[in-house]
Amino acid sequence: MFNKRVKIKDLLATEPSGQEVTVMGWVKGFRQNQFIALNDGSTNNNLQVVVELGTQDEAILKRLTTSASVKVTGELVASLGKGQKVEVKAKTLEILGDSDAEAYPIQPKKHSLEFLREKAHLRFRTNTFGSVFRIRHTLAYAIHKFFNDKGFVYLHTPIITASDAEGAGEMFRVTTLPLDNPPRNEDGSVDYREDFFGKSTNLTVSGQLEGELGATAFGEIYTFGPTFRAENSNTARHLAEFWMIEPEMAFCDLEDNMNLAEEFIHYVIKYALEHNREDIEFLAQRLAEEEKSLPQDKRSEMGLMEKLEFVVNNKFERITYTEAIDILLQSPAYKKKKFQYEVKWGVDMQSEHERYLVEKHFKKPVIVTNYPKDIKSFYMRLNDDGKTVAAMDILAPGIGEIVGGSQREERLDKLVERMEQMHVPVEELSWYLDTRRYGTVPHAGFGLGFERLVLFVTGMTNIRDVIAFPRTPKNAEF
Ligand code: ATP
Ligand code: MN
Repeated sequence: MFNKRVKIKDLLATEPSGQEVTVMGWVKGFRQNQFIALNDGSTNNNLQVVVELGTQDEAILKRLTTSASVKVTGELVASLGKGQKVEVKAKTLEILGDSDAEAYPIQPKKHSLEFLREKAHLRFRTNTFGSVFRIRHTLAYAIHKFFNDKGFVYLHTPIITASDAEGAGEMFRVTTLPLDNPPRNEDGSVDYREDFFGKSTNLTVSGQLEGELGATAFGEIYTFGPTFRAENSNTARHLAEFWMIEPEMAFCDLEDNMNLAEEFIHYVIKYALEHNREDIEFLAQRLAEEEKSLPQDKRSEMGLMEKLEFVVNNKFERITYTEAIDILLQSPAYKKKKFQYEVKWGVDMQSEHERYLVEKHFKKPVIVTNYPKDIKSFYMRLNDDGKTVAAMDILAPGIGEIVGGSQREERLDKLVERMEQMHVPVEELSWYLDTRRYGTVPHAGFGLGFERLVLFVTGMTNIRDVIAFPRTPKNAEF
């Protein structure tokens, strides 16, 4: 019978009146042969369980080692000790699972994040990762709530796709053909007609094209699912497997799109501040400690909590790509030749440029719009100048690009023309073009990388630390 278990988080908020409670969790510490610090993952705060001298078997007390799992039944009473309002006076104490303290990979001391990444199967039991993953959960919930409350339909777009038309980086191939001896065509190329799906297939890099099919039927949809990119970018911001949120709205232009994205980001951060305050405070403290060892100019100007409050209480800056390039060309950093990559109208901004704009110049999130058409995808709506498209990227301090979106090209002739210019196979995407053939409408959408949002809210700096089991080049452990 486990159903009488009370979660420690709830217990710590309960008024003590000597009522009998049952708690279960893992031992964080046991001192003076009397005080157990017990944690069950519902909060970083431990419950103090007091074992009165002589009431329990000595043999059982010896088994109260770090990470042993126990079941305790006892009285909830006001605590005399400092640091907690309530504690449990143990009546019965049962070891559910022993833990060899010497062999337990995570010793009760401070470990580096790199070390914990190698022990990712156990790192959830640390305070840092406890907080990170509870916040990740809350954000995921808030995302569904935000869209549900607005009447969006959650559409599950396919994970295996036959279209590599998006061209957003390298794709992972999906096949059941034997790698060492695949069937071949006369010209020597692999004959995919023999493959499982009868054609070449890949893992999705984006659900957008299918999302547009949904939007032009339901009005407003969103996707929230796994996304794969085989780009060999071993950075602190890229994963090979990540989660993306992609809303797509009919009857929507670039301005509406930006407004929704901004409202959305404000909403989910506010939701986390309300529901995970304790965890965010813990991570804020952690970050402040971490930054103490950095030189003054490398430290954040605001603490994590201040930064999040600031973001939810202020509007994002909105500038065009052309204005962004002008700011960069006028910047002291440019004049002192501090940028490694070229700055001129037409280039794709590098992360050093994006970071300059948000961290040095505006000091807040920035939405950059109307990029040159040559550096953006075929489906973005051509502006009247003939040179730029109705794109928008949201750049966040410490992260860089967090959202990429656009108004889509709804005019069939213009879209086909763009596809031909960019060598996108028109025939293969005939299904996509049907949305433009049968009742086309102005529509728009964006993609937000979930892990980048979690990075922003938790103040963590490496994307490998905000997904449970990171997949990156040369790494697919656990
Ligand atoms: P970047 O320039 O940062 O590589 P991108 O322009 O390739 O990103 P998009 O194709 O616009 O990215 O994807 C939409 C969003 O998905 C991005 O704004 C980002 O938040 C997220 N994203 C893209 N690639 C990755 C990745 N490899 N790992 C984690 N998140 C990613
Ligand atoms: Mn992008």
